[in-house]
Amino acid sequence: MSGRKLVASVKPRIVAVALLCLGTAFCAGVCSNPIDAAQQRDVYGREPKRVLLLHSFGRDFLPWSEYARSIKTNLEQRSPWSLDIQEHTLLTARFTAPGPEGPFVEYLRSIYQGRPPDIIMSVGGPAAGFVQRHRSDLFSTVPMVLTTVEERLIDRARLTEKDTVVSVRNDFVAAFRDVLQVLPETRTIALVIGASALEKFWLNEVKKDVRSLEDRVSFVWYGDLPFDEILKRASSLPPDTALFWGLMSVDAAGVVHEGESALHRLRAVANAPIFCFEESFFGSDIVGGPMHSIPELGRKTADAALRILGGEKPADVKIEPIEYAAPKYDWRELQRWGISESNLPEGSEVVFREPGIWEKYRWQLAMIAAVILIQTGLISGLLHERRRRRLAEVESRQRLTELAHLNRYSAVGELTASIAHELNQPLGSILTNAETAELMLRRGSPDLVEISEILSDIRRDDQRASEVIRRLRSMLRKAPFELRDIELSVTVREVIGFVRDLAAGRNIGLSFYSPPDTGLHVKGDPIQLQQVVLNLILNALDAISEVQTGKREVSVIMARAGNFAEICVGDTGPGIAAADLKTIFDPFFTTKPQGMGMGLAIVRTIVEAHHGTISADNQPFGGALFTVRLPLAS
Ligand code: ADP
Repeated sequence: MSGRKLVASVKPRIVAVALLCLGTAFCAGVCSNPIDAAQQRDVYGREPKRVLLLHSFGRDFLPWSEYARSIKTNLEQRSPWSLDIQEHTLLTARFTAPGPEGPFVEYLRSIYQGRPPDIIMSVGGPAAGFVQRHRSDLFSTVPMVLTTVEERLIDRARLTEKDTVVSVRNDFVAAFRDVLQVLPETRTIALVIGASALEKFWLNEVKKDVRSLEDRVSFVWYGDLPFDEILKRASSLPPDTALFWGLMSVDAAGVVHEGESALHRLRAVANAPIFCFEESFFGSDIVGGPMHSIPELGRKTADAALRILGGEKPADVKIEPIEYAAPKYDWRELQRWGISESNLPEGSEVVFREPGIWEKYRWQLAMIAAVILIQTGLISGLLHERRRRRLAEVESRQRLTELAHLNRYSAVGELTASIAHELNQPLGSILTNAETAELMLRRGSPDLVEISEILSDIRRDDQRASEVIRRLRSMLRKAPFELRDIELSVTVREVIGFVRDLAAGRNIGLSFYSPPDTGLHVKGDPIQLQQVVLNLILNALDAISEVQTGKREVSVIMARAGNFAEICVGDTGPGIAAADLKTIFDPFFTTKPQGMGMGLAIVRTIVEAHHGTISADNQPFGGALFTVRLPLAS
């Protein structure tokens, strides 16, 4: 043997031994010794069913790892027998140029010699090819389930009576059509795919399948690129490009990509959305679409295995190739790439929808809305109430004006004698003066200077009489409540003029004092304020009239008290009974036989309408004292 040949024959051996070691190491980690397992018994004394699960690339190799997990879970949950699942990995599928399989065959033969497994299940295309190729020299009598394998990877001619196939169908055209439906502007689809034997096979298949789409979209194939180069290209794709994640088990540089990290890296840099028909990659990186359902395949494979373990002939267990499930999309990716849900095919499911602000803070928002509603209700209630109060105020003022007017009539009624007397005086003087002037004119030479003086006296008396009538008319005028700037002492002084004669007629002294230098300007209705003073003075005169003896005097004193103008009406009458002090301002409170008891009630209402106060008291030396305070105009 030449040195060269020796190297050639030694190389495969080294690979085989390495594989054997790897396989053994893997098996030691995940499965128990088959001989030991044979000695195990379940609670009924039955031997467990031994399942040989053969992986294509590795136990944790996506997407097959997810299918295998689902198959095992189904088997464990539904098997009536205890199961001893022994997992092995082909490993050779990982290499771009696969090595010899002999050593691995040897390895399997040696560990299962004398005690073959009850069933063999191959996961993935490479494992299916392996078990089909070595069926006769390895486990010719053991039933086999070839699962998670694409239709095209099954060697139908080699299938035996002991074989069952649970296959899937990769419909590339349907998958790409979905991309075009979801993103109608797509002009290029870039296929990310590895360089292992299996991946090369698929790249060729895809190229053949998509010919019908080439007039609609162009394709870019990344099958012959190291993954780092793919990342570089994916980061600067032209607009309207979509990426399609084929398989990335082994890249063109021979780097093995086992889990999800390669896809994560691609998504992190890619400037285009990524699609894929393997559900195992769905959940964080891909947009979605029609995909192979992991639960469906797991369930159907377990169905087949359990039927065979139960005694059914494998050739009789027929399972239709599994098509894509209904399309499913990741809401977050749809948002990221601005894909409208109206573009999704009918019957699609959108998952991972992030709750909107309403779903997230439902209670808080409901509370806020409720608070706002309650507040709005309260505010409108208060506004309504305020409006009603205003209306009531207006109405009450109107009533007050009417009542005050009536009250003035009755007060003026009491003043009739006094007014008549007040009018009588100037009228009498006018008559006397007119008669005197007549007599003087009848004389031969009348004294014109004196006649002129008489005439001016007549005019003065006439003015006095007119003034009495003017005051009377203004007092009886039915005017609406109206605030204006007034000098309070002038207003009060007019009232004194009214009642002076009445007081004198009753033999009562009436004194009035207002500070000479300080103005007492208030905002008020002069007629109503006069009414207040008039009522208080008339009551005082009435009170004094009751007593026959003693001093008979009413005093009206005005003063400034802080920011208020003060009017004190005191008398020397009998005063107010202590028990009546609280109720004296109540309507209909009277001690007079003919009284109405409305005078003081009206007085208080008028004073309060002017934002003032009124109080009643007894003076220490006898008699009542009423004090009115009105705010000074600023
Ligand atoms: P009226 O004069 O019709 O009785 P008022 O409301 O004016 O109604 O007065 C109510 C009552 O207050 C009077 O009946 C009287 O008993 C008492 N009163 C009012 N002013 C005085 C006063 N100056 N001195 C004593 N009692 C008074």
